[in-house]
Amino acid sequence: MRKIVIAFSCIALFAVAVFYFSGVLISKSGAFHYYQVPEVKISSIKLEVVYFVPRDQTPDPYFYGTLRSALVAIQSFHSREFNGLSALRYALYPKAVIGDEPSSFYDGVDTSRGNPGAMTRIFKETATRIYVKNGELYDEQFVRRKKDELPVRAFIYQGVGGSSGVLSAIMSYDYFTRTDYGATVLYHEVLHNLGVPDAYDYDTGAPQSDDIMGSGRMKPIAGSYIRDEIKKRMME
Ligand SMILES: [Zn+2]
Repeated sequence: MRKIVIAFSCIALFAVAVFYFSGVLISKSGAFHYYQVPEVKISSIKLEVVYFVPRDQTPDPYFYGTLRSALVAIQSFHSREFNGLSALRYALYPKAVIGDEPSSFYDGVDTSRGNPGAMTRIFKETATRIYVKNGELYDEQFVRRKKDELPVRAFIYQGVGGSSGVLSAIMSYDYFTRTDYGATVLYHEVLHNLGVPDAYDYDTGAPQSDDIMGSGRMKPIAGSYIRDEIKKRMME
């Protein structure tokens, strides 16, 4: 059985992300903002989800039902936790995207801390295949964004993975099919995109909180929560 790894490559990205956000986001009134950066308002989030399968793997035709339920759960969790102060919607790419390359190409040599290498490669490949008008998988409805919407690209990867980057995240398909906390991990990665740090020790795995950034990242999403300290730093 493939090992499921939750790991992160997001710490060093904080400064980059703030800089990047300040360029793309239009500030407007609203109480919800980037973690610890009240100047960077985030009025709404669009989660763009792609089920990505390396070309040497077979896509799971029954996966979409599972994935859709997870996204609905994420949406209600977000709304519940932030009292509707920030909107989150999702767009799910309508079919599995078969990679141009086999697993060996996407997977890095060391995936003990997630799979940031795969994320970079998939981000690049889908950018030209899905997101540009002459791309062979271009889908206008999927790509379209409302004004001021903060996009986060999430790749559900048939392989090893769990990492976040700037406005993007990758996680293993296995989280959704072999655990009951796939939605939780995806939302945890979304929070990294908004600057929220982990609350557990990377070496020992010992949690520093029981919320979604700590041990609560491995609970079904409806039973997890965001601790007040984080909400405070995103809403005041
Ligand atoms: Zn994390």
